[in-house]
Amino acid sequence: MLTRPPSLVPRHLSLSVPRNGILFVVSAPSGAGKTTLCRYLVDMFPEIRQSISFTTRTPREGEVDGVDYHFVGRETFERMVAEGAFAEWAEVHGNLYGTSLRTLQQAREAGEDILLDIDCQGAAQLRDRLDDAVFVFILPPSLKELERRLRGRQTDAEDVIARRLANARREIAQAHWYDYLLVNADLEESAAQLRAIVMAERCRTRRFRDAPARWYGIDEPDC
Ligand code: 5GP
Repeated sequence: MLTRPPSLVPRHLSLSVPRNGILFVVSAPSGAGKTTLCRYLVDMFPEIRQSISFTTRTPREGEVDGVDYHFVGRETFERMVAEGAFAEWAEVHGNLYGTSLRTLQQAREAGEDILLDIDCQGAAQLRDRLDDAVFVFILPPSLKELERRLRGRQTDAEDVIARRLANARREIAQAHWYDYLLVNADLEESAAQLRAIVMAERCRTRRFRDAPARWYGIDEPDC
């Protein structure tokens, strides 16, 4: 269980200075702990909106349409692709997944931070189009440990585990271009690192709409 650390609001936010919303993109091979860490992030920063993807996958037990995913048929998904409704989309494990372009635009307009839990094919599409998004890749401590975790779930058949491990290798081969790498050996430590990334990214000068001098009514120097 993760203990919730005290909230640290950057001091400058008490000035209510307008900041641009940040797009956080998190990828990881299955079994690396991405879902748990993303949940932690949204719990720690409730103002971060998690994007709800569209998928052609059938819902798993307990999954709710419009909460976990927007579950749609292949025909609907393909029509949405043709209409340009997705900021990115990809085929993962035989199913189609996509992020609504409108959701990203709305978040940007509202200055909201948004979290995307997407695979590395989709992340690469966004990297090519958005230069101010933040890309985080979560790695397992080792392939052996990843295999141990996948087997520990006791939900997947042998061929599914083998396929997930093969996919994990392909995903890890993409990790080098991400902005941040987390090796998730210890959940507490990884959560603290993720939190630090959010805090640091929010403090970057380029995130603020106005120069700091303006916050205080100071005329900007010419230099
Ligand atoms: P699952 O079906 O297990 O929920 O997700 C399978 C994979 O699809 C995960 O790696 C997840 O990150 C990825 N995924 C979920 N939504 C999207 C999306 O909108 N776009 C892309 N490219 N991948 C997604």
